[in-house]
Amino acid sequence: MDKRVLLERIFGYTQFRPGQEELIDGVLSGRDVFGIMPTGGGKSMCYQIPALLLPGITLVISPLISLMRDQVMALKAAGVPAAYINSTLNAAQMQAVYRNLLAGQYKIVYVAPERLDYGGFGSIAERIPISFVAVDEAHCISQWGQDFRPSYLRILNFIENLPCRPVLGAYTATATKQVREDVERILHLRDPVRKVTGFDRPNLYFEVLKPEKKDDELLRLLVGKNRKSGIIYCATRKKVESVCELLQDHGYAATRYHAGLSEEERSENQEDFLYDRKTIMVATNAFGMGIDKSNVSFVIHYNMPKSIEAYYQEAGRAGRDGSDADCVLLFSNGDVQTARFLINNSSDNEEMDPDQQELVRQQDFARLEAMTGYCKTTYCLRGYILEYFGQKHPEICGNCGSCRGDFEARDITREAQMILSCVKRIRDKLGYDVGMTMIQKTLQGRKDKRVLEKGLQELTTYGLMKDVGTTELRMLMDHLEMDGYLQTDQEMQTIELTPAAGKVLYHGEKVEILTRKAPEEKTSAAVEVTGQAAELLDALKELRNSLAREAGIPPYVIFSNATLADMAKKQPKTMREFRKVSGVGEIKAAWYGTAFLKRIQKFIDENE
Ligand code: ADP
Ligand code: ZN
Repeated sequence: MDKRVLLERIFGYTQFRPGQEELIDGVLSGRDVFGIMPTGGGKSMCYQIPALLLPGITLVISPLISLMRDQVMALKAAGVPAAYINSTLNAAQMQAVYRNLLAGQYKIVYVAPERLDYGGFGSIAERIPISFVAVDEAHCISQWGQDFRPSYLRILNFIENLPCRPVLGAYTATATKQVREDVERILHLRDPVRKVTGFDRPNLYFEVLKPEKKDDELLRLLVGKNRKSGIIYCATRKKVESVCELLQDHGYAATRYHAGLSEEERSENQEDFLYDRKTIMVATNAFGMGIDKSNVSFVIHYNMPKSIEAYYQEAGRAGRDGSDADCVLLFSNGDVQTARFLINNSSDNEEMDPDQQELVRQQDFARLEAMTGYCKTTYCLRGYILEYFGQKHPEICGNCGSCRGDFEARDITREAQMILSCVKRIRDKLGYDVGMTMIQKTLQGRKDKRVLEKGLQELTTYGLMKDVGTTELRMLMDHLEMDGYLQTDQEMQTIELTPAAGKVLYHGEKVEILTRKAPEEKTSAAVEVTGQAAELLDALKELRNSLAREAGIPPYVIFSNATLADMAKKQPKTMREFRKVSGVGEIKAAWYGTAFLKRIQKFIDENE
């Protein structure tokens, strides 16, 4: 069978997302692969489809127990024989899984990394035909990543002890160079097919608000969202408690999650949220890793997180099914103090010496600065994030708080003059051009080793823009390049002036950039389903939820909200039409088709 047919039959999608095809083809041709895609980009498909096409068994190594169970449940619902092995299974269940495994009854088996050298599984693994090992959340192998898991270091040993080396795939959403290098090195990936897809998530609407009273603003934001699923992140446990109480007092079905609760309560609350028994989760950043809930339609940050990495990961939990979703950050200056306090008082990592600790602290402060810049920028918010991750982007995205507001041309002639004259002075002093980082650090007056070695602190432009954040400064430089005042030497990656720069430097030519006019009343993201279809959508959700309750699985495992919305729009009358709905595969159509078709027919009859 062909990968496209599988995509259609099993998962009910008609097109691959960027990167998926290359990564699947890589594995099928016997090559190792390394996929870097944003959260929600569709990494699981990249190993699930090869798993179904290859002979033998695919092991998926994943750090997250909740994720495993969900994915196995979703696979089973789509008709794929799958299982998981982790500490939640009791001895009898484990034995049953092992037995089935040896009998060749599974195509995909999820394994927790700490199980890999657990006597039992190691010896079973030698006796089954493992053709492919997929390492999910591969950044956990790197100490530079945010979620280092020592047990990931055992993966290589496990693989080397197998009778036959399987194809290896690694998948992560972390893009930094250091982490990428670590993954390839530690896993010994052999000349992998590398695929880095863009980090943009066009369906997410970004917004920063600076309310006087956050509680009031939050309640305002939640109006009309009682039945939508969302996450509200707070910086401290105390805040989680008070916000959760506030929402409950106002009649919202809210629950909470933080490290101060008992494990039992945490998992109970998490389940309530996953199964849509509670629609709003109020949590610290302890919540969410590996949560694959596809119908989260908003993520609100009550406080500013510590870094853009953390923010994008948390906000990225919204809209995973591709529906429009909102990511709103409520900012106050107090958030900066709290974040500084948390960095200064973060517990020391015992594996590091004091110098390393200090380095980490400095990195943390640099990340915090970029995050604060996001909250204060008047430029496109999506552009700011993509810029931070080093990705090119248009000046205006059209779907963020800055771009939705009215624009005005902001005069940046002064900033332009500072930047351009700094580039010129560095060139005059050294006799050659330097890269963007050096220019940026000089303008900011950084005591960077390389800046000082070159004597750039002696320039009059040194420290001229010390109050401008790195990302913002880089956006300004990009803008000057786009406008033709600066150019990059493609080979050396150095920045030089163009002849046009002279007009700004010596003849007062005005430079402008479009920015947001004034903070606007927020209009919520476009609702795609309106009128009658919206009524039908509600009915379909009800049906789905009751089917899910009966089967004891989370509703989105049956159909995601995006699928139901498409169904409400298309209003299929026959099984054939039903199969055309995005997200409806063969098996799911067979299991649920009749029930949904009936419900749709009833709706049509009633409304004629
Ligand atoms: P992540 O990269 O975060 O692991 P997932 O694999 O969980 O992302 O996928 C996120 C969502 O996107 C899931 O609901 C999945 O069904 C959906 N998805 C994946 N691939 C496609 C596709 N080709 N077309 C439409 N939806 C897809
Ligand atoms: Zn924008």
